[in-house]
Amino acid sequence: MNRPGAETFDFIIVGAGSAGCVLANRLSARPNATVLLLEAGGGDRHPYIHIPAAFIKTFTDPRFNWCFETEPVPGAGNRSIFFPRGKVLGGSSSISGHLYVRGQAEDYDTWAALGNRGWSYADVLPLFKAQEDRSAGADAYHGSGGPQHVSDIHERHPLCEAFIEGAVGLGLPRNPDYNGADQAGTGYYQRMIRAGRRHSAAVGFLHPVLERANLTLKTRAQVTRLECAGRQVTGVSYHQDGRTRQAVARREVLLCGGAIASPQLLQVSGIGPGALLQKLGIPVVHESPGVGEGLQDHYAVRVSRRVNRPITLNHRARGWRLCWEAIRWYTSGSGLLAFSPAHAFAFARSDPGLARPDLQLVFTPASYADSTEPVSRLQDEPGMTCGVWQTVPTSFGHVHARSADTRDAPAIQPNYLDTEHDRKVIVQGLKWCRRLLQTEALAPDRGPELSPGTACESDDDLLTYAASMGSTVYHPVSTCRMGRDALAVVDPELKLHGMTGLRVVDASVMPTMVSANTNAATLMIAEKAAQLITGG
Ligand SMILES: Cc1cc2nc3c(=O)[nH]c(=O)nc-3n(C[C@H](O)[C@H](O)[C@H](O)COP(=O)(O)OP(=O)(O)OC[C@H]3O[C@@H](n4cnc5c(N)ncnc54)[C@H](O)[C@@H]3O)c2cc1C
Repeated sequence: MNRPGAETFDFIIVGAGSAGCVLANRLSARPNATVLLLEAGGGDRHPYIHIPAAFIKTFTDPRFNWCFETEPVPGAGNRSIFFPRGKVLGGSSSISGHLYVRGQAEDYDTWAALGNRGWSYADVLPLFKAQEDRSAGADAYHGSGGPQHVSDIHERHPLCEAFIEGAVGLGLPRNPDYNGADQAGTGYYQRMIRAGRRHSAAVGFLHPVLERANLTLKTRAQVTRLECAGRQVTGVSYHQDGRTRQAVARREVLLCGGAIASPQLLQVSGIGPGALLQKLGIPVVHESPGVGEGLQDHYAVRVSRRVNRPITLNHRARGWRLCWEAIRWYTSGSGLLAFSPAHAFAFARSDPGLARPDLQLVFTPASYADSTEPVSRLQDEPGMTCGVWQTVPTSFGHVHARSADTRDAPAIQPNYLDTEHDRKVIVQGLKWCRRLLQTEALAPDRGPELSPGTACESDDDLLTYAASMGSTVYHPVSTCRMGRDALAVVDPELKLHGMTGLRVVDASVMPTMVSANTNAATLMIAEKAAQLITGG
């Protein structure tokens, strides 16, 4: 029930992450619509958010990060795996690794083939272009002048050049634009970085419009439940400054909490699988068996090698050199601190017979103290790392609320490597990493393999290594899947099946995983949602 005295807005957006920032921008562009944007985290002024290489700091900082842990994952040695999500303006785009990767045309054509009309590649390409401000300029695949800046790497490290040359020698085509006609091949990543600073969704979409009189932003405002009248979502309750408040939506509530929080919020509000809600003692408002099911994520493993000259980033990240790098970044936005964690890419096939790549590889001229995490402390000695993940896994997990209180972290079970197919592909992925680090081009600088090490030889050894040392690469999707089948949660207009007044707009609605890091697709989903809502 909505209490008297609750504030009223046309639209209430829950979560100022990647999707929420896009929606806040697009919906408040119409002066006759009032918009309330509620974000559980705080503002994004801290310098760690804006220095690209300070990713390493925000990765585990609870001031900006929900710092979840998964349930023990059977396919990953029964380990609980650290699972960061952004809790700050910009959401996960404020703590992300900056890579701008849209995926393959076939990803979106698959969405359309599953009954989601309007989501084919031909449909969504104009939306990607409309959002983009590509430093290299516009062309058939890219836009310029949009709110999301996308730049090329500012410094080509000699080891990256050698990595790419070696990859070409292995038969991967040199690809200057994996977001263009074809994803396959090797080259440098495109980054959401502008003039050496992070270009999050908050920077691109939210800050430029915060002065609009019809947009109200509340930070440290955690939505605790969706309010419903019968089958209609009418508003939200949220917790701010130690008090519970209410807001009413004249038109719609737009749930943008991301692939973990959105299903949890639906479940605690009585919208979800009946058995789960009953177990938690939550009255069922609307039984929707797919809420929280179908979780997919990318699971990465890494191979690292010593480099026999002090040319890697390890060396530049210490002592007086780090001070010099800080001055460089401050004065010119360049150098070490302007790097994203991954520099060069390869999109490869685990089986040469495949029509398109099913492996994404990342190369960094650095090595890490903890090889299960890409962002732990850099090693003192020089090193290089190649990581890999399967682009579209066939393993599925879930997100389940643990109680009726959204302030209790939900149970996250990604079920990595649950299928035989995924286990085979990750072993082939590790072999690709090894091959790519063993090329002639890298030979002059190459030292011994550090991880997994030469004792790890057979496919069984590689699988054991993958299971015991892999980690999330932070791309959970599909927990409120769009579709028309019995487990679909939203329809192709992102409206909740079986209820009115609510759309889910974030990474949780992806019908299937994209062959990419997930931010570009999430921004696009929100752009499309804005068009659907405004009829624009
Ligand atoms: C460490 C890390 C690195 C990544 N690197 C990359 C990369 O290099 N490239 C890439 O493309 N993708 C990357 N990603 C993934 C990408 O950032 C996400 O796919 C994308 O940001 C998801 O957007 P979203 O809107 O679905 O959710 P989010 O951006 O996570 O936004 C959800 C927002 O909702 C808020 N919220 C949650 N619950 C509530 C509540 N109850 N009340 C109010 N607010 C709430 C959260 O605090 C958050 O701000 C990375 C993610 C992480 C965590």
